[in-house]
Amino acid sequence: MQIVHGKSGWLEVICGPMFSGKSEELIKRIRRAQIARRRVQIFKHGVDTRYDATSIVSHSQQSLPGIAVTDARDILNLVDDRTELVAIDEGQFFGDEIIEVVTRLANLGKRVVIAGLDLDYRGLPFGPMPQLMCRAEYVTKQLAICMTCGDPANFTQRLTGDTAQVVVGATETYEARCRAHFEPPAEERPPVR
Ligand code: ADP
Repeated sequence: MQIVHGKSGWLEVICGPMFSGKSEELIKRIRRAQIARRRVQIFKHGVDTRYDATSIVSHSQQSLPGIAVTDARDILNLVDDRTELVAIDEGQFFGDEIIEVVTRLANLGKRVVIAGLDLDYRGLPFGPMPQLMCRAEYVTKQLAICMTCGDPANFTQRLTGDTAQVVVGATETYEARCRAHFEPPAEERPPVR
């Protein structure tokens, strides 16, 4: 996808299941902006302490330092006037306030890039992600590799019996699955597959 750089701000969403490379893609866009000497600030939701409480970290161990926040409105208070790129990871964990926050930042002329899971472990839209996707100028949907058959995977299979929407974990708790091998909880199964 070619992002056309302009003077007005805009919103980019990077979405897909776990292990699809969202964090890698976010880190790549941040690094390229830093090479271009753009002023960058990096945020992630504080609930995700899988690897490091204050860094964006990919499953392939790439990382960049950031600020962990739990209330999206804190991002508005923390963003410097001179910042040109605002990067946010784990967007699905924020409440709907994140929609107004990123809209305001983009309206101020900033490039805002937010990465997050578009579907939860049930295969249902996750938090504010659908709203962010339709407001964004650019949406990148990534796929992982199905751990059962090797096909492209759009779903995140929870391997435990937990029923909370948010259960933080990595390979011990989740794996990527294609449509044929994704097994949602019984109550979420569509009548015809
Ligand atoms: P996400 O942010 O979408 O969870 P990451 O950027 O953290 O993804 O990690 C992507 C990396 O995860 C890949 O480059 C690869 O090294 C690794 N990986 C592990 N399992 C899978 C899988 N099933 N499909 C694709 N990549 C995987």
